[in-house]
Amino acid sequence: MGMLEAEDRTDLLVAAFERLTDARPTVFGRAPGRVNLMGEHTDYNAGLVLPVALPHGTRAAARARDDGRVRLLSLQQDDAFVGDLADRGPGGPTGWTGYAAGVLWALSREGLPVPGVDLVVDSTVPLGAGLSSSAALECAVGAAVLGLLERPVVGATAELLVRAGITAEREVVGAPTGGMDQAVSVHGTADHALLIDFEDERRRSVPLQLTERGLALLVTDTRVSHALVDGGYGSRRDDCEEAARLLGVPSLRKATLEQVEGLDDDRLRRRARHVVTEIDRVTATVAALETDDREALARLTADSHASMRQDFEISCPELDAAVAAAVGAGALGARMTGGGFGGSAVAWVPTERVDRVVTAIDDSFAEAGFRSPQHLLATPSAGAAWTPVVG
Ligand code: ADP
Ligand code: MG
Repeated sequence: MGMLEAEDRTDLLVAAFERLTDARPTVFGRAPGRVNLMGEHTDYNAGLVLPVALPHGTRAAARARDDGRVRLLSLQQDDAFVGDLADRGPGGPTGWTGYAAGVLWALSREGLPVPGVDLVVDSTVPLGAGLSSSAALECAVGAAVLGLLERPVVGATAELLVRAGITAEREVVGAPTGGMDQAVSVHGTADHALLIDFEDERRRSVPLQLTERGLALLVTDTRVSHALVDGGYGSRRDDCEEAARLLGVPSLRKATLEQVEGLDDDRLRRRARHVVTEIDRVTATVAALETDDREALARLTADSHASMRQDFEISCPELDAAVAAAVGAGALGARMTGGGFGGSAVAWVPTERVDRVVTAIDDSFAEAGFRSPQHLLATPSAGAAWTPVVG
């Protein structure tokens, strides 16, 4: 099984756009998926996260219409959306078009003069793999609209794009996500991870220097879809809120490990312990990267996976197998990443061992009778942008 490449599919995208409209697009919006290196289920607990923007992303080809109509098409889905600007908000389209139409709605609610539009999207991020194809879709669509309005994705406009993606996902699609995905899809930079503190929304780019260190970030999509267990994410959120309420703190960010260990309810104690220790692991991971302390990096990564498996209970046999096989074949460390219940694992792998690790994971999946996984290299990449179509 080869690597999933972040290929350039401009020709396919433009051809589909021309079939839909008999015209060429005037702008391309683009936004990446992401892989989180540390800090799972911490964003909605006012905690820390450390994601990286992937080279894999979503592109949106767009052209304004002067009749206020909206047509949305995806090369990854069969159903299209055709409607008016007015039908875009909550209670509007369901399914994938909710993410895209929801962004148009959210941007106009922010006061932007969003025009009617023909829009076609195409993605190299696998859907539902825990690599945030949803934020890539939202931010690519939003970036395309900003392109139509000739507003560069910088400063306050970049913040507006992050908010519009979050609003679409929370209020239109109804997915209670925490905000990490859109932030890194917009603010990711090449060669860096993005440290985000959700207590005060502060962000800082952390240099990864993977090439200099001779390391690669190998992502393995188990192809177990987390959508199958809808509700797991929300129930973890509820547990965290309940634990914070019992401890009398505004969020688990404000709880100490000692306080958490005093919770009577075993489930809530373990949920809260994951969050509190995971937030500390983000800070420690940044420190380990800054001092090139590989032993610490390895330990923190292993501890994070164990915490998600045992305390937060969001892993699954496929993720555990990918992590064990990666470490067994010489990865420095590996952990599940994303919301859990399937999705992907991420491993820090010395470059010369990538092939060996990939083979070991594939073999262990074959032996266990799991579906073949899919791998990709997470070369840290830039966030959302738009470009005019030339010619
Ligand atoms: P993840 O963000 O981890 O990939 P989600 O369940 O949050 O998983 O989002 C996946 C959903 O996003 C898909 O089921 C689909 O509705 C929508 N989606 C993402 N990318 C695309 C795309 N390129 N075309 C159409 N829909 C997409
Ligand atoms: Mg998502």
